[in-house]
Amino acid sequence: MLRTLCGCFIGIFVYLSGLTQTIRIGISPTKKFTHIKFNNATASYAVVADSFLVGYLNKNNSLEVLLGTKGKVDLLFSENRKKGFSKVKLIAVSLNHSLDFSSISPVFKSKGFEGDFEITALSDRLLVVNEVDTETYLEGVLESEGGEGQPMEYYKVQAIISRTFARRAFDKHSTEGFNLCNQVHCQAYLHKRMGSSMIDSAVNQTKNQVLFTQDGAFAPTFFSANCGGETCNPAFVWNEEMEGLVPLRDTFCTKTKQATWVKTLDPTVWKTFFVEKYAFPVDDSVSYHYLFHQELNHRKAFFIHPGYGIPMRDIREKFELKSSYFSVKLENNQVVLHGKGYGHGVGLCQEGAMAMAKKGFYYTQILGYYFPNFHLEIIGEANRWE
Ligand SMILES: [Zn+2]
Ligand SMILES: [Zn+2]
Repeated sequence: MLRTLCGCFIGIFVYLSGLTQTIRIGISPTKKFTHIKFNNATASYAVVADSFLVGYLNKNNSLEVLLGTKGKVDLLFSENRKKGFSKVKLIAVSLNHSLDFSSISPVFKSKGFEGDFEITALSDRLLVVNEVDTETYLEGVLESEGGEGQPMEYYKVQAIISRTFARRAFDKHSTEGFNLCNQVHCQAYLHKRMGSSMIDSAVNQTKNQVLFTQDGAFAPTFFSANCGGETCNPAFVWNEEMEGLVPLRDTFCTKTKQATWVKTLDPTVWKTFFVEKYAFPVDDSVSYHYLFHQELNHRKAFFIHPGYGIPMRDIREKFELKSSYFSVKLENNQVVLHGKGYGHGVGLCQEGAMAMAKKGFYYTQILGYYFPNFHLEIIGEANRWE
């Protein structure tokens, strides 16, 4: 039995399976890796090129993989260059070990990862896939997305929403040969968990817990750093409603560092964007005034008025703003934007959730606050992953 978000007890369907579930994560797939390196293995990794065992990687040696010709992969291993493979795999011969991955061209700093690796060649780059146990992946996600030193109940919240997100988006990159990428496009998984083992406990204590919609689907558990005091309607960001996601006022996040921001812009640059992209009527004195004077007390989909057809998200993207929730003023001949929040603002507010956890709220209460229309379930490892 488990408490639901509203606090009452529910029965839980548990599908049992003894299988370990893995997920295939594309490591920085937009980077044009042509020469990469693996070293610092904490145990032996079998290096398998196509069906040949080339040797073993351990703490004393390194493996370099290069983009070859005609869609092939070359290896530099034990000072020998071996050419023309379709696929190279690094397979850990025992559990709970890691190695360091780095790139020589382009330069990419070394990061530790658990699990196995698979490298194949695309036309202009190497595709690097980390095949890792899902719960181990989540530990890396929690540290990458939440940082260190957070309260336990917050880590449990992040574990559940990140697990649900991974399951819901499991096929997001399937046509590219992996499930999810390790960037914020999916969710950040920059390296294995390096810091507090509290993160591992949070993942373990919420094992297999996910959020479901009322229709029994994996819930859209979006999250962002700070909502600025009001979470955002998903339609304002992605042009589509999502089942169960509703905007709400958030009083927990309004006093943090990322709660507000200020950006100053040149008035001509500001005006030119609206005139060129939206044919904004600057000759109309009323419209012209509004362009430089907008008070925003609530989130809106459109700038000034829907009739002008200017989505707030477009302005955010163009001027690289921290959020699409801001007021506009003209001060000392400069356009000054006073903004609230950091990120798209849809779903759970991470800084709000951290503040709730510090005040003593349980993870079920925090999830219930940000996702009142979803419910917790425990699902077995065999469900959906195969
Ligand atoms: Zn992605
Ligand atoms: Zn918030």
